[in-house]
Amino acid sequence: MCGIVGYIGSKNSVPVIIQGLKRLEYRGYDSAGVSVINSEGELLVYKKAGKVSKMEESLDLDKYSGTIGIGHTRWATHGEPNDINAHPHLDFDGNIVIVHNGIIENYKAIKKRLSIEGFEFQTETDTEILADLINFNYRRTNDFVTAVRLSLVEVEGTYGLACLCKSEPDKLVVARKGSPLLIGVGDSETIVSSDAAAVISYTKHVIYLEDGEMAIMTKNGYQLKTIEDKEILRDTEVLDLLLDEIEKGGYDHFMLKEICEQPDTIQNTYRGRINFDTGVAKLGGLDTVLDKIVNAERFIITACGTAWHAGLVGKYMIEQYCRVPVEVEYASEFRYRNPIISPRDVVIAISQSGETLDTLAALREAKKFGATTIGVVNVIGSTIAREVDAGTYIHAGPEIGVASTKAFTSQIMSLALITMMLAKYKNTIPDSTLIQLSQELLAIPAKILKMVEMKEKYKLVAESFKNAKNFLYLGRGFNFPVALEGALKLKEISYIHAEGYPAAEMKHGPIALIDENMPVVFIAPHDGTYDKIISNIEEVKARKGRIIALAYEDDENIKNYADYILPVPKTSPLFASILNIIPLQFLSYYIAVMRECNVDQPRNLAKSVTVE
Ligand code: GLU
Repeated sequence: MCGIVGYIGSKNSVPVIIQGLKRLEYRGYDSAGVSVINSEGELLVYKKAGKVSKMEESLDLDKYSGTIGIGHTRWATHGEPNDINAHPHLDFDGNIVIVHNGIIENYKAIKKRLSIEGFEFQTETDTEILADLINFNYRRTNDFVTAVRLSLVEVEGTYGLACLCKSEPDKLVVARKGSPLLIGVGDSETIVSSDAAAVISYTKHVIYLEDGEMAIMTKNGYQLKTIEDKEILRDTEVLDLLLDEIEKGGYDHFMLKEICEQPDTIQNTYRGRINFDTGVAKLGGLDTVLDKIVNAERFIITACGTAWHAGLVGKYMIEQYCRVPVEVEYASEFRYRNPIISPRDVVIAISQSGETLDTLAALREAKKFGATTIGVVNVIGSTIAREVDAGTYIHAGPEIGVASTKAFTSQIMSLALITMMLAKYKNTIPDSTLIQLSQELLAIPAKILKMVEMKEKYKLVAESFKNAKNFLYLGRGFNFPVALEGALKLKEISYIHAEGYPAAEMKHGPIALIDENMPVVFIAPHDGTYDKIISNIEEVKARKGRIIALAYEDDENIKNYADYILPVPKTSPLFASILNIIPLQFLSYYIAVMRECNVDQPRNLAKSVTVE
């Protein structure tokens, strides 16, 4: 979840590491630190609670300088986020230093053993114990690489890690299990990171580590092996990422940039995947499992957070248009509740990062039972993308804002394409409808652009509600998941308590909350349930709730009911959730900005959740 950067080469490593950490800060950010071996062979560590920039401000760059170093931004799992628990962590002898993403699950048992050996500990973290274990093995073997390797064999849990050894200052040792790492190979320099964003300024030639692998990095390259000591030969591949994709490009926040990018990102999701004359969708990445998909008895969509909401839209789509049962499962529940899975099931794992640990574990569980697995993933080459039987990339480009926006709409678009593909093979909707849908799809980017251009209208609504304490979001059908996602966006970045409900469920509980202070967002497009939604609005109005209606831009009638209107263009129900979430993204964004919240890095959250 957090970020790792390591450098060995001919430059001073510290500025490279700091710049890299800033690019990774969106992944987790409660503390940051660096460690270098300087030209006198001293091993130095500097770390601070807070953001990378706070650590950088007080860092003496003359003192902390050296051609080999590691750095970290932390998202605490063990021990509060303070200076002492921040990474890098030194071992008891001050010889080994490590940065680590993940959780060492058996750290208590190891700690007990090491304390019998006379080790003393400074921090509350699991990571420090791993540093000590490596040192313990170093004392026995006098070989850094062997010491890391033997330690990793003992460790249970997850790690992406990078470590240095004062006695062997010519190498950086890195390893991975369950937490991503890639190595960039440049000209007389080698860089490791948990995210390509930190590597791209230096080189495009990278290798991705697989679980159970470690690498010995020198300034001239890397040697790869398993933690069981088996040599691995793997060539570098070329990174498919542009620097400007991970920069703000003139916007105040990544989140705003990413909301506004959606006319393009949606187009990138469907580009080359649909024939607009015949309405036939084709997803090349699913070819190898097409038979399984078409004959699936059931789909199980598994995901977390925003991706779970996209999955719920997927259920409504696939069941309505393809007439196959779909279940949507929180990955964290699915993996532990002994689910019933058969080889006739197709499990769809949705994850922006492709590294979400619970989703990955759910996917592995499904594979054990022989289900076909497919991924709907953004990050190319990520673990989920590699482990599924087949998959489709959403092609939304790097998403840096912690609150997911463009990935959500592209996930829905991918599920819409899967729906259209399946409907064709199963013959569940007429060709003429498919053609209509594909024409509608073609119009989506322009409709999103129209909303981006009227963002000031959404901002005005935000102005009226910036001091609200609670919010309710209500929708029906395809718009129920939109209500859930709208509420989640607001909670995540503005810290206003918000809940999403199916509109008719309101009477079964939430209506008790309604008074003159309660803003209620009704997602009320003029579709089959419009009259019902109007009745629900009346119910709220009767109790003095403040009504914000998301409605078609030409809906005159809604003005009779709503206090505020978020206008949206019309579209087919299949794509309605893609359009309807956009004003709600803007609403949350502007409210959070007006409340002076840190929009891109909301408290306690991290971008890709690689711990359980
Ligand atoms: N478990 C480690 C800690 O709490 C690493 C957490 C992380 O992935 O940032 O410090």
